[in-house]
Amino acid sequence: MISYGHQFIDEDDLRAVLNVLRSNWLTQGPKVEEFEKDLAKYCGSRYAVVTSSGTSALHLAYLVAGLKNGNEVITTPNTFVATTNMLLTVGAKPVFCDIRSDTYNIDESKIEALITDQTKAIIPVHFAGQPCEMDEIAAIAKKHNLLVIEDACHALGASYHGRKIGSLSDMTVFSFHPIKTITTGEGGAILTDNENYYQRLILLRSHGVNKNEQGKNVMTELGYNYRLTDIGAALGISQLKKIDNFISKRHKLVKLYENNLKDNLEIILPHEFEHNYSSWHLYVIRVKDASRKNNLASYLKENGVGINFHYQPVYSQPYYQDNGYKDTVCQISESYFEAAITLPLHPLLTVEEVNFICDKIKSFFNK
Ligand SMILES: *Cc1c(COP(=O)(O)O)cnc(C)c1O
Repeated sequence: MISYGHQFIDEDDLRAVLNVLRSNWLTQGPKVEEFEKDLAKYCGSRYAVVTSSGTSALHLAYLVAGLKNGNEVITTPNTFVATTNMLLTVGAKPVFCDIRSDTYNIDESKIEALITDQTKAIIPVHFAGQPCEMDEIAAIAKKHNLLVIEDACHALGASYHGRKIGSLSDMTVFSFHPIKTITTGEGGAILTDNENYYQRLILLRSHGVNKNEQGKNVMTELGYNYRLTDIGAALGISQLKKIDNFISKRHKLVKLYENNLKDNLEIILPHEFEHNYSSWHLYVIRVKDASRKNNLASYLKENGVGINFHYQPVYSQPYYQDNGYKDTVCQISESYFEAAITLPLHPLLTVEEVNFICDKIKSFFNK
C-alpha cells in the first residue's frame, strides 16, 4: 500500500534522539528550549512554546486568549475536529463559516455576516498547507476587535505574500504529528509575538506552577501537563533542519501530479494562489461527477493506493449533530467533501509511485 502520508527519518534524526536517551534529561529540558528558539527563528516570530500535541497547543492558545463560556468563534468546517473540539473544551461556541470553492479555505467574504456581539476570535485553518487570505481576515478582525488564532497544523513552512506562517497573527498553532511537515512523534507549538501570552502559555503548559521570588514552587493558575519531552524536541531540531528539503520535494511531486493529470477532464486539481507558497501537506483532487468518487476511491485502494478523505464538515460529525449543529449547513463545504479524494503526498513518495497513481486514475476513467 502506498500511504497517503509518511514521516521521513534519517540517521541524523536517530543520532539526535539517541544522544538525549544517553543523557540525564528525558523530559522537558535544554532541547525543548533549543527547539523553541529554532522554531521562532524559522517562522520569524518572537516566541515559540512547544507542547505535547497540536491539540494541547490549541487548548492552551484558546485559554490564554481568554476564550470561554458564551464566546463565539468563527472557523471553517473543513478541518480536523481538534480545531473546534478544543473550543468546546473551553466552553466557547464554534460558528462555522463556509469555504472558498477554489482553495477550500475559509471564505473570508462570508466571515463578517457571522459576527455578533459574542464573537471573540477568528480561527483560520490553512487547509492542505495553502495559507488563507490573511490580510482580509486581519482587516476584519481589526475592524471588529477580534483575535486571530491560526490553526496552521498543515502549514509549517508555508508563506503568504512572502511572509512565513507563524509570524502573522496573535497566535499560530502547529502540530508535529508524523503526518505533518516535520515530526516529534507527538507534539505541537504555539507561536506568538505577545509576551503576556508567552508567559501564560509556559505557566499553563506545566500545571500552572512557577517559582516565586523565594524560589518556592507555587501554583497560581489551573494548568496541565502538556510538556514535550527532550526526546521529541531533539527529533524536532533535527527535522527542522531538513524542512525546506521536505517541502521542495513535495512541490516536485505536486508538479508531477499536475503534469500527469492536467488534461484529465474528469477531475479538478488543487489551485494554488500566486502569492502563496504552500507547504503541500495534502494533495486533494475533486471528481467532477461526485457520484463516481467512491468508486474511484475503492479502485485506487484495490490497486494499493492509500487514498484518504479530508474533511467531512466538522458540524456533521455525530457529536456535533447531537450538540446543537443539526441546522448548520455550509453548502460549499458539503459539495466539496462529496467530491474530494486525498492522494498520497510525502517526502518518501517516489516519481514511479506518482506515475503509477496517475496511471490508475486514468485507467479508471477510461474503463
Ligand atoms: C493534526 C491537526 C491537529 C491536531 O494536531 P495533533 O498534533 O494531532 O494533536 C489540529 N488541527 C489540524 C488542522 C490538524 O491537521
